[in-house]
Amino acid sequence: MAQIDDLPPLRDVIERHDLRAKKSLGQNFLLDLNLTCRIARSAGDLSNHTIIEVGPGPGGLTRALLHEGAKRVIAIEMDSRALGALEEIGAHYPGRLEIIEGDALKVDMTSLVPEGPARIVANLPYNVGTQLLLNWLEADPWPPFYESLTLMFQKEVAERIIATEEDKAYGRLGVIAGWRTHADKLFDVAKECFSPPPKVTSSIVHLVPKADPLPCRLRTLEQVTAAAFGQRRKMLRQSLKSLGVDHLRLIEEAGLEPTQRAETVSVEGFVAMANGLDAMRGS
Ligand code: SAM
Repeated sequence: MAQIDDLPPLRDVIERHDLRAKKSLGQNFLLDLNLTCRIARSAGDLSNHTIIEVGPGPGGLTRALLHEGAKRVIAIEMDSRALGALEEIGAHYPGRLEIIEGDALKVDMTSLVPEGPARIVANLPYNVGTQLLLNWLEADPWPPFYESLTLMFQKEVAERIIATEEDKAYGRLGVIAGWRTHADKLFDVAKECFSPPPKVTSSIVHLVPKADPLPCRLRTLEQVTAAAFGQRRKMLRQSLKSLGVDHLRLIEEAGLEPTQRAETVSVEGFVAMANGLDAMRGS
């Protein structure tokens, strides 16, 4: 195991603070600091950046972010048992670690970084990972309060995030992520790297917000993708009936075919339909 600082090995930290992993909190800890440093480095040069880390737990990734030179790390953790371990890290890197005890789904992250966009880096708890990502993708105003997201997901979720039309994993998540960001999968992380090991392989995904996504209302885009993918195997002429407008005209004016299925429609196609829907409704 890599020795990146004078702090004790993570196994000792976990034992001393009685941090037995809780499934209800999505706790699968990374104990290899070589790996956490690799994840930290994949978020780019950290030296002049504030990092928001969700779910630091015993602090393997937190230590890596600080070791790799992050100017400031704001760590949001819901499990009070982890706070002692995090305070020890803070003492080792004076003035650079801010610990917030709370639920990341409820914390107003925009107000944490008045100085400008942060980078978000996290080994996310799987039970709330997708919801957190959606919250970040739905940020208002846009461009958002972050300049990149470097996140661990289950591999299958990672594939849905980066999927484009015709990919098997393409769906609502791929449309929203593809509309507002450039999303890439960086590398896989084997189950055995975690304690306890999860059931499936994980992947690191890196998303960078687009400065100028195609103009479109988020809520309408979500309505159209929900209708289209809600009935996955159906053709658009069937699945979009539920929108309650002249959906055949909507499809045609977006340059699409009524016989197409949702999984063959590009992000641009969905945006065209969302804008058409707003126009038809006069909103
Ligand atoms: N970052 C650590 C690592 O890589 O070893 C821990 C990752 S573990 C997969 C997820 C962490 O998120 C846990 O520490 C858990 O307590 C925390 N967590 C779970 N739900 C949370 C929430 N809603 N808000 C903030 N933290 C949460």
